[in-house]
Amino acid sequence: MQSHISDRLLAAFTPFFPEGRIGSYVNGEIVEGEGEEIALVNPATGERLASYPDAGPGVATRAAEAARAGQKAWAALSHAERGRLMQEAGRLLRAHIEPLARLESLSAGKPIRDCRGEALRVAEMFEYYGGWTDKLYGNVIPVPSGHLNYTRREPYGVVLQITPWNAPLNTCGWQIAPAICMGNAVLLKPSELTPLSSLAVAALAERAGIPKGVINVLAGFGHTTGQAALGHAAVKKVVFVGSVPTGGKIAAAAAARCIPCLLELGGKSANIVFEDADLERACIGAQAAIFGNAGQSCVAGSRLLVQRRIYDEFVGMVAAGASRLRVGEPTAAETEVGPIQNARQYRHVLDMIDAGVREGAEIVGGPAGKVEGPGYYVRPTVLGKATNQMAVARTEIFGPVVVAIPFDTEEEAVAIANDSDFGLAGAVWTRDIGRAFRVAAQVKAGTFWVNMYKTINVASPFGGYDASGYGRSSGIEALQEYTQVKSVWVETAEQPNQPFGYAPAVDS
Ligand code: NAD
Repeated sequence: MQSHISDRLLAAFTPFFPEGRIGSYVNGEIVEGEGEEIALVNPATGERLASYPDAGPGVATRAAEAARAGQKAWAALSHAERGRLMQEAGRLLRAHIEPLARLESLSAGKPIRDCRGEALRVAEMFEYYGGWTDKLYGNVIPVPSGHLNYTRREPYGVVLQITPWNAPLNTCGWQIAPAICMGNAVLLKPSELTPLSSLAVAALAERAGIPKGVINVLAGFGHTTGQAALGHAAVKKVVFVGSVPTGGKIAAAAAARCIPCLLELGGKSANIVFEDADLERACIGAQAAIFGNAGQSCVAGSRLLVQRRIYDEFVGMVAAGASRLRVGEPTAAETEVGPIQNARQYRHVLDMIDAGVREGAEIVGGPAGKVEGPGYYVRPTVLGKATNQMAVARTEIFGPVVVAIPFDTEEEAVAIANDSDFGLAGAVWTRDIGRAFRVAAQVKAGTFWVNMYKTINVASPFGGYDASGYGRSSGIEALQEYTQVKSVWVETAEQPNQPFGYAPAVDS
């Protein structure tokens, strides 16, 4: 079976792959898959944009072997040379912000203005980690006796990275750059629904001089292609970004092979607004927290906790702001909220709104919920009169739906925030500096914001507590994740008195 691609998508794809074929990127070339057909659907219309065959186990094996060879070539370069090539990739990515954004906006259904920002972030990730290749090194340990003991930070070899559909471009740079910085090669398996921007980044990195085989992209399903890659002996670590149920399966498969695993999973983050906050700013922040990327963000501020005395006023302000957001075609310059990425997720979001109303939550303002017509559009929706026990407050909706819950005291706000399986992010809005620090210290979350929301940066660690996962991406912490530590012992004494490191046996 051959890939098929519509004219509109072809125009966006050919700047990266002039032949216009969709497949896996293995050792610097597109390899067509061997499995069943996968459709790429335009979320703005519901129409088919393209189709391609699932990579399947054969291609996964080829890619793993290419990565094994690529890693050897990559690790043989000097650290400085690797850094120079990553910087060059950063420059080339910068020069392709517009075509990358067009491809992502069309195929993932994300507003083009957000896609431009994501493309720039990916360039910055390659530049940032390009500066780190020769700056993370081991220590000399002050052990007793005439021994020298030092540590080396070594790459794992081949790392498998499995990523979701909500921010494919950003997530691919976020994972690839720190991994290759430390001398690993990657097998990246993006969501089968959104593989194109990852393919484009891999092609640009190779054009910049990063050797073939260092970045390989598998276009295919998780249960077939992803599982095959996970089982390949060349893969020495797996990094998974996605949902909790799939994360559990990946971690179990990694555990069965005794290889390490990093999980970046979902969230149900609490955005806490106290009555003393700057309500205008908090209102803008609350909207950005949940309606950005149509709520399809792992760190979305999906539980809005509002102090009771300002609850009606503030929730009304957020709902009024929500109704003014421009929902529309993602490639249009003015669009602020695009469609839900795929039909399955669209149905889940609408079902959750219905479930919330059935449980007694009320839609504030309006109109809200489903947009009639083609495409998977859902209007920014505020569910008021909610409690933290409702399913809408406990389940990740992953859509433009915020659940507003009242609280009375600081203690209660923290208790509600922490009454969740997840622990990815959170925020507090207050003018009381002591309260800001107290709440920041008490909420269980891998990322916490004070009087702001959603800012992340490649230099800052990112990851979850509890069911939101473990391990950290970005920052120095990511470099530690992508290396293993070797302890090297050297005998320096002329007459070793502790042969082989053990104290001499004592005669009894
Ligand atoms: P998902 O778990 O369904 O899929 C994620 C990836 O796993 C995809 O590439 C998929 O093909 C693959 N996969 C599925 N089953 C597999 C299997 N059996 N073996 C191997 N691979 C398999 O998630 P999704 O619906 O694509 O993405 C949405 C989820 O991702 C949300 O829960 C969201 O919160 C989460 N997410 C988390 C972060 C974070 O950094 N914490 C970032 C973005 C998204």
